[in-house]
Amino acid sequence: MEKLIRPELIAMKAYTPIEPVEILSARSRLPAGKVIKLDGNENPYGCSPDVRQALADYAYYHIYPDPEQRELREALAKYVGLDGGHVIAGSGSDELIDLILRLLLEPGDKVINCSPTFGMYPFSTEVCGGRVIEVARDEDFAVDVAAVKRALDKRTKVIFIASPNNPTGNIISESEILELVDTGRIVVVDEAYFEFSGLTVVNLVPNYSNLIVLRTFSKWAGLAGLRVGYGIFPVEIVSYLMKIKQPYNVNAAAQVAVLATLDDMGYLQDAIKKIIAERERLFIELGELGWLKPYPSRGNFILCSVLDGNAEEIWRKLQSKGIFIRYFNVTRLSNCLRTSVGKPEDTDALIGALKEMG
Ligand SMILES: *Cc1c(COP(=O)(O)O)cnc(C)c1O
Repeated sequence: MEKLIRPELIAMKAYTPIEPVEILSARSRLPAGKVIKLDGNENPYGCSPDVRQALADYAYYHIYPDPEQRELREALAKYVGLDGGHVIAGSGSDELIDLILRLLLEPGDKVINCSPTFGMYPFSTEVCGGRVIEVARDEDFAVDVAAVKRALDKRTKVIFIASPNNPTGNIISESEILELVDTGRIVVVDEAYFEFSGLTVVNLVPNYSNLIVLRTFSKWAGLAGLRVGYGIFPVEIVSYLMKIKQPYNVNAAAQVAVLATLDDMGYLQDAIKKIIAERERLFIELGELGWLKPYPSRGNFILCSVLDGNAEEIWRKLQSKGIFIRYFNVTRLSNCLRTSVGKPEDTDALIGALKEMG
């Protein structure tokens, strides 16, 4: 069989995904209600009651969704303040990352990955037959724009920048993004955490033929399980993506949930405020332990360096207490941990457990 499989995929490292609550519950031998899940940057308050009602009331689950996503794209465009012709929705923004690369990469084409960053960029690059060019972020995890420019050659097609960056939480400035756009490569600014940072370059998309912004309903909107994200693209790119995407890529439930979410922003704005306030409290509490160094974050998560102790060991010990955070087994982050910002009681449980270890 192996002879039939693309050799570069046999050699490729698998992506390490997070697990759902049922699995974590079984693993920690705790009832699902006792599991404290801080590993996926999900919104612990969930979606609004209006969204649940709209999903219950929808009468057409037996009919395929609109392949052109007309109503959805219009609603998303209104939310971002642009024309619907710039927008495409996907089954999570993960699908859009894949689609962009499928559209652009020929075998061996290069993609710039400013590590440490979100793992789906190198993953999809390799699946699509491209080559990942790693450009390390500096000590404070800022993008090294000069190094990115030095790394470019004729085969470089795409530069991915998450802002706020996952897992480090920091942002990139608009002027630095424009410096990258000036290189002529496709620049994908991943704003998965926009609703927590309040910073966006979406308004610049109509001015450039090579700037793309990605967003998602997984993190702020409490819809990670329904898989829906969207991109804001130059109009020309939209026409090609519409051509190559699977016709029914965003399911009917996801479309219903997004429309209801955008009609009831009050509920989520309230949840976002609570999460941002909790992020600030969590940051202080983590720092006060004395043996963790939390990095300032504009997202709904905080990365910490472990100054005294072993990150992997702490991660395992927390798991045995039913507290799930994220450990990344990569060199640059080998002594770091990332925790999502949960509810106040989640912060209390996490800090309590860390104090017992300190
Ligand atoms: C979580 C995350 C995504 C994935 O979002 P989905 O819409 O759930 O696929 C994309 N980019 C970044 C930076 C993320 O952290």
